[in-house]
Amino acid sequence: MGIKFNGVEHSYKGIKKYDIVTAIKDINLNIDDKDEFIAIVGKTGSGKSTLISHMNALLLPTKGSVDVFEYTIMPKKNRSLKLKPIRKKVGYVFQFPEYQLFEETVYKDIKFAPKNFGFKEEEINKNIEEVCKLLNINEDILQKSPFNLSGGQMRKVAIAGILSYNPDILILDEPTRGLDPKGALEIMNIFKYINKELHKTIILISHDMDLVYEYANRVVVMKDGKIEFDGAKEVLFGEKNYEEYHLAKPQILKIIDHINEKLNYNLPYTIHNKDELINALRQVSQNAR
Ligand code: ADP
Repeated sequence: MGIKFNGVEHSYKGIKKYDIVTAIKDINLNIDDKDEFIAIVGKTGSGKSTLISHMNALLLPTKGSVDVFEYTIMPKKNRSLKLKPIRKKVGYVFQFPEYQLFEETVYKDIKFAPKNFGFKEEEINKNIEEVCKLLNINEDILQKSPFNLSGGQMRKVAIAGILSYNPDILILDEPTRGLDPKGALEIMNIFKYINKELHKTIILISHDMDLVYEYANRVVVMKDGKIEFDGAKEVLFGEKNYEEYHLAKPQILKIIDHINEKLNYNLPYTIHNKDELINALRQVSQNAR
């Protein structure tokens, strides 16, 4: 087990003493330490950020507890709770992570976190080499200032800084926001590789249902601070009243519905992207011959 929420509630104190906002409540959730690709969805204010902030102890629960690998996070931080090992196991890619770049060279920026986690110089350099290859970061830029890079490259450098300490679980908060379609596709395909080939668990917050339908395997829907649905995307969009949760139908499913209706086909919702749709249509036309 990677992360387990046990009856978690989190309330924020308002400006006035008696003002309390309960942002999440009754949260029970199990996340495996490998191979999961989970999307957390729901409208703004439904509690997504508060939920994920408990996954690496950025926030502590006000009720209940969260197990993160061998560590238990309780409402009052006990002195023995070590945050570093939790943060090392669960990497958090914030929205617009490039805003957190600050060093004078790309190399120093990527090195900052693994150095802070106590990695040895040799291991850091080996990890940086691997991560640059994975993210297609040209080693020529390592000695340049991160602030002279394009937006997409800056984001990759910021993500490299997290991958370089090799966390088991990665939290991604709107990772493609502000990127052009090509940059967004490149980044999502890297996360897909990290999930499929390196077997890491990925937790993605996104408002983009096309992206969710293509990449995630499991969807957790938040509504008014509670988990309203936790299961397969095909079930959510095929059987549930997803509109009630303010979710848009993925484009690919709209196209499938249209083809099925107009041509009397029976294409399934297990088609998740354009390539799979083209293959399915080829199959149909071959079978018809
Ligand atoms: P989401 O990520 O789905 O937009 P949030 O977890 O940010 O949802 O917010 C859930 C609720 O908690 C909202 O009502 C929000 O206004 C409130 N909230 C979030 N952060 C704070 C905070 N720091 N102080 C007070 N209330 C907050």
